[in-house]
Amino acid sequence: MRAPDIEPSLTILVVDDQAAARAVLRGELEHARHRVLEARSGAEALSLFLRHQPDLVLLDVEMPDHDGYWVARELRQAEPGGWTPIIFLSGLGNDLDLHRGIEAGGDDYLVKPVSAIVLAAKLRAMQRLLTMRNRLVTLSEELNEANQKLKHLVELDSLTGLVNRGGLDRGLFNEIVAARRDQLPLTLVMCDVDYFKLYNDSLGHLQGDACLRQVAELLKQVCRRPRDVAARYGGEEFALILPNTPRSGAMTFARAFLRVMAKLALPHPDSPVAGHVTVSGGITTCVPDASTTAQGMIMRADEALYAAKAHGRNRFFSFEMQLDTEEHLSTQHGDLS
Ligand SMILES: [Mg+2]
Repeated sequence: MRAPDIEPSLTILVVDDQAAARAVLRGELEHARHRVLEARSGAEALSLFLRHQPDLVLLDVEMPDHDGYWVARELRQAEPGGWTPIIFLSGLGNDLDLHRGIEAGGDDYLVKPVSAIVLAAKLRAMQRLLTMRNRLVTLSEELNEANQKLKHLVELDSLTGLVNRGGLDRGLFNEIVAARRDQLPLTLVMCDVDYFKLYNDSLGHLQGDACLRQVAELLKQVCRRPRDVAARYGGEEFALILPNTPRSGAMTFARAFLRVMAKLALPHPDSPVAGHVTVSGGITTCVPDASTTAQGMIMRADEALYAAKAHGRNRFFSFEMQLDTEEHLSTQHGDLS
């Protein structure tokens, strides 16, 4: 028997209740430079299999206690998604029930006493299958990774680099599930640039794009926690998902954002609200229950946004708090949270 010169050596688990049979196989396999583990029973086979994760199993059919079929089924169950080749060994004149062997999870069989040439040939065939399978597994993992990257790219807004609407919908859905499970408050903020059409009309669309990028940058800076998501909902509309954020926290966030906007003071010559670019926002906060949906939260935040506009813009409004950021600023002595 010639040692395989291309394929690497294998760790092979030999399962046979007869010491003589195991010794013969060990001799052949070690001659071919494979590493051999020996088990005398089904139970021992299972424990060695779990501990050493061999590349291949040679499995006697007839054994006291658990037979080879039982062992094959147990091995298959022990590695869901994995595949270690199993070759059954059947006694001479004791025909292997091939169908039963395959059903139990076996891949091939050999008749004892095992011919060295046949054994070597079968091992090489199994090695080839193993190599191909590993290549496929690697390929599918790479494909999966590429898909994840692609998905991430597809969910980004090209102008601002924020998550786009598709990403927002998916993220909001996931956070609702998580917040419902953990019984934590989830906040959604919808906001948009006040009088953005007037801004574009007076300064042009390129400047309009630059303005959106700057607002997006500020939103990103304010959403600092790893799970916070800032998204561009469309046009001059933005949305923020703030997990584990109670109503008071959402208001604090909104005030901080208005402060940085005022500090940035991007000129907006035709704004009826202020001399600079301003933003209005609607906030909704809840501990989600079975009836909470992403659409429902978006609608509620949108209604709050309209209320903020109706109250004079350049402010954030929350129905749950019956409060906007302006009132909050003018009544800072009160404990309104
Ligand atoms: Mg036996």
